Formats: sequence, C-alpha cells, structure tokens
Amino acid sequence: MRKASNALLMSILLGTILLVPGKSMRYTAPTPAQRLAAIGPTAGLPEALRRALEPRDDFQPMAEPGPSDWLANHPEAGQTFDRFVRSRPNRPDKHRSKIYLQPLGSFDEGEGASLEQMRRFTAAFFMMEVVVLPPSGQAQHHLTSRRNPYTGQIQLLTSDILKLLVTQVPEDAFALLGITMSDLYPDPSCNFVFGQASPRDRVGVYSFARYDPRFYGEALSARSHKLMLRRSCKVLAHETGHMFGIDHCVWFRCLMNGSNHLAESDARPLHLCPVDLRKLQWSIGFDVVKRYRRLLHFNRQEGFEDEAQWLDKRLRFIAPPERDSHTR
Ligand SMILES: [Zn+2]
Ligand SMILES: [Zn+2]
Repeated sequence: MRKASNALLMSILLGTILLVPGKSMRYTAPTPAQRLAAIGPTAGLPEALRRALEPRDDFQPMAEPGPSDWLANHPEAGQTFDRFVRSRPNRPDKHRSKIYLQPLGSFDEGEGASLEQMRRFTAAFFMMEVVVLPPSGQAQHHLTSRRNPYTGQIQLLTSDILKLLVTQVPEDAFALLGITMSDLYPDPSCNFVFGQASPRDRVGVYSFARYDPRFYGEALSARSHKLMLRRSCKVLAHETGHMFGIDHCVWFRCLMNGSNHLAESDARPLHLCPVDLRKLQWSIGFDVVKRYRRLLHFNRQEGFEDEAQWLDKRLRFIAPPERDSHTR
C-alpha cells in the first residue's frame, strides 16, 4: 500500500518545477550489476523478448547529473521491474483497452505537431488503439485560469481539468489524457507544471505550450515542426508511461528519465531502456519485434533518422532476418 500511494504522489508531482533542492539524499549512478538486477532474470522468456532486454552497448548508463538536472534536485531511488510488478499498477485488459486523447482548446495543425501524427506515434509506442476525441473548448467548462505574472501567458488550473476528465472517462478507456497548447499550473503558489496525472483515476493532462519555440518569443523556423513533433511525442509517451505505473528511470538514459529543464528533456531518447521496456511489455503484452518495426516506420516517415537507425540496429540484433519466422 505504501508503494502504491508513493507512486500516486510521485506521478501527481511529475514535471512540477520545484525550486527547493532535495537535501535528504544524493543520487549515485547505479553499477552495471544493479542495472542488470533492475531488469531482473530473463531466462524462460520468449527469445525475442529476452534479446530485447539485453542492454549490450545500445543503452547508455545514466551519468552523474549536472547541478540543475532532475536527479541532482530530485534524487530518486529507482523502480526495478520487480518493484513495479509488486506495486500492482493498472493494466489494460479487454474491457479497458483504448487510450483516448482529449484535445483541450485549439491546436495549430499547420505549425505544431498534428493530432494525427501524435495518435499514430502513441498507437505504435503502446501497441494499443488510440482515439483522438473532438477538441473541447475551455470556456464552456468553466476551467479556472490565470495570467502568469512572469510570462504574461494564460494558464489553466490542472486540478479543474482532472476533475472534468474524471467525469468523462469512456467505458473502454485504459486512460483519458487531456492534451493542450495552453500552459498549466497546479496551484496558485506554483509557477507552472508540464502536466499532472492521477493514474488510479486513469486521467492525466499534459501541455505542449513550453515545447513550442513561440512560447519563448522565438520565431518558427524550418526545423520547428519536426522539433515540436518530437517533443510532443516524447512528452506523450513519457507521461502516458506514468499512467501505467512506471516511475522515473535512474538506470539508463531513457525516455522515462525525469527532466528539470527543456535541454534535459530534449536530450532524452525517444525509446525505453530494457527495465522500462520490460514493464510496459508485461503490462500490455505486445510483441516487441512488431512494436519496434512500427516505431521504425513512424520514425522514418517523420525523418527522425537517429531514432530510426537505433531501432534498425536493435531489430537486427533481436530478430535477424533468418530467425524472423521463429520470433513472436
Ligand atoms: Zn515524468
Ligand atoms: Zn528506463
């Protein structure tokens, strides 16, 4: 029970910019043996999955954090695969099998990431059906808002959005996720928050506002669209990962690493380390090879060449062509 409530509390605070550095403990990078122990024993797993969980040199160990990085300010102990399973997280089943995305307010389809691109990425990443609901206006729901004193931008209060989403969770939803281009704040004393979730209620809300160069007064450039799509995909997969009960990763450089600032978030890869891949696979039960192939297709289509090359290399190790027919 203690674990469950910790996980909930942590997920709720994820992405909040806390200005008070942690004092109680310091993060120490795990040893290779600790990283392997976090993955757990893989003997007896189907061969393709077992190979997918072998780190080899395709995953970089987590390095010591810089002074402003997440782990220097939020030293987390790390969640092993075993601890994750013991936390009894929500899992999709045949009755609750879909991820719903609820756009709140308008999305600049021509300039930012399109909802269809985000839907395709999320469907490939989680190997689940993803439904984009019709955009819902903010005004009609009487959501509390304010003008942020530092940025001058309108912000929406996350607790209002979560309360609204809880009443709208479709029957077949594993999760209902509000997504918005508006900036968010979790309570009047906080500057802003990237997102807030209540995994046990199966709802969350994430903002893409601070991933848009225009938020910082910068003009859109030729590479803005690709950058914004990549950031949007990353935040969607990271925050949705929390909906599955996956905590921040301290083992490898991984999509589930916490991030304290935009540069740290941009430096995160778009893929999961073996520890977190195992958690997600255990929860959803997908075929790891099919998932990587779908993600490879998406990354190639969108021109994310570095990710595509990484996936291609990984696939050649997990399922070399001559073994293809035996993989599952
Ligand atoms: Zn997070
Ligand atoms: Zn990880």
